[in-house]
Amino acid sequence: MSQFDFDLFVIGAGSGGVRAARIAATHGARVGICEESRVGGTCVIRGCVPKKLLVYASHFAEDFEDAGGFGWETGPARFSWKKLIQAKDKEIDRLNGVYLDLLSNAGVKLFNGRGAFIDPHTLRVGDETLTAERILIATGGTPWVPEIPGIGLAITSNEAFDLQELPRRVAIVGGGFIACEFAGIFNGLGSSVTQLYRGDAVLRGFDHDVRRVVGSELVKKGVDLKLEADVASIEKTPSGLLLTLVDGGSLEVDQVMYATGRVPLVRDLGLVDIGLNVKADGRVVVDDFSQTSIEHIYAVGDVTSRVNLTPVALYEGHSFADSVFGGHARPVNHEYVPSAVFSQPPVGTVGYSEEDAVTHFGPIDVYLSEFRAMKHTLSGRDEKTMMKLIVEQKGQKVVGIHIVGPDAPEIVQGFAVAVKSGLTKERFDCTIGIHPTAAEELVTMRSPARSHG
Ligand code: NDP
Repeated sequence: MSQFDFDLFVIGAGSGGVRAARIAATHGARVGICEESRVGGTCVIRGCVPKKLLVYASHFAEDFEDAGGFGWETGPARFSWKKLIQAKDKEIDRLNGVYLDLLSNAGVKLFNGRGAFIDPHTLRVGDETLTAERILIATGGTPWVPEIPGIGLAITSNEAFDLQELPRRVAIVGGGFIACEFAGIFNGLGSSVTQLYRGDAVLRGFDHDVRRVVGSELVKKGVDLKLEADVASIEKTPSGLLLTLVDGGSLEVDQVMYATGRVPLVRDLGLVDIGLNVKADGRVVVDDFSQTSIEHIYAVGDVTSRVNLTPVALYEGHSFADSVFGGHARPVNHEYVPSAVFSQPPVGTVGYSEEDAVTHFGPIDVYLSEFRAMKHTLSGRDEKTMMKLIVEQKGQKVVGIHIVGPDAPEIVQGFAVAVKSGLTKERFDCTIGIHPTAAEELVTMRSPARSHG
């Protein structure tokens, strides 16, 4: 009998933690897990899932408008934020229940409370002290906001999902994933949206054509996108919140949402006290097996800040459990991870951007197509779809696909298998398209728009 209470104790019951706990338990480990909030973590409770539900809700505004071009006459549509939030909450409660069932069916013991290290094998969770042979840190991340006067008046994505009412005027600060997604959500639902971004094009780090098209579509859809703009202070006024900008300008809104990044959630965990290697920004340093600088302590998901996406955390958690408890060593490879931004229209991307591919591979060919989707020939909507293939010249492998347009995430999920498998442009060319679809463009682009060599 082990000298420890558990073979594995997991701190944090989000995507990565729950997956790791469940799989380790199915491999026969005695597993405990603790959670200070609700089981399911950021993705399920206040991230990907409720966000996507809100994106669906907000898109109906355009769908009603577009229907006119197809012969439909619709009456004036009315929207209830309260009903949407109630429906969303019901779905989140259901998923929270599914996660709880997953844990209990696997025999994982759940502790409600925050975990912290007392020593490398001992944790305190609430009033209890527990020991474990191995410990997994899966505490995720939390929104980060800059320290400016009045920042306490701003909300983050955490609060945006539970607002009592839809703000009439909202300012969104940031140009990343969350800012672009929420600009589209609030805009579609009828708020007047100003997005303030300090750079010269949103979505830094993405391919430059993606950045260009998302920026121009945000503006076309009615978002007041202010580039090279930053907030100096926020003040409460009798009629709302007054934002003073660094360049001296100002604007008044009813709600300010900051989406200026997320940081690993390691506060009060006691990691430094036990001598764990943690970077200045809180990131827990791990190897390809998610092992930290202390042999029996592991970390997965956003707390390690490798690629901060739910499916990556799931993969890391599963690989950890298989490697350590299943006798099947599975290192994690973070190359060619597809991702999406649920902006409107959405982005789907896998592999290298044009600029990164030049740095990494040298000579490359760029295939580019920009067009109006078939649906909009009748709807009349002026919305662009952009599709792009990046091919390295030497081996002719497709090393990047970038799409902005309806269903881009769905399309890229499929094509990501081809990119991850290292398929060449010739393999794309000999695949027959499905007509009429937008995705057929990816197998029918014959001449490069440009080459870098
Ligand atoms: P991002 O890192 O994507 O974007 C942060 C934004 O805030 C950037 O535009 C950044 O500007 C700006 N910013 C940073 N500091 C300041 C500052 N002091 N003043 C003004 N602006 C500032 O973070 P998000 O919060 O949008 O999302 C966090 C992470 O969550 C993402 O990176 C992603 O991993 C994950 N996520 C994934 C989603 C998906 O898969 N669809 C959806 C939502 C989140 P600059 O570019 O100049 O640095």
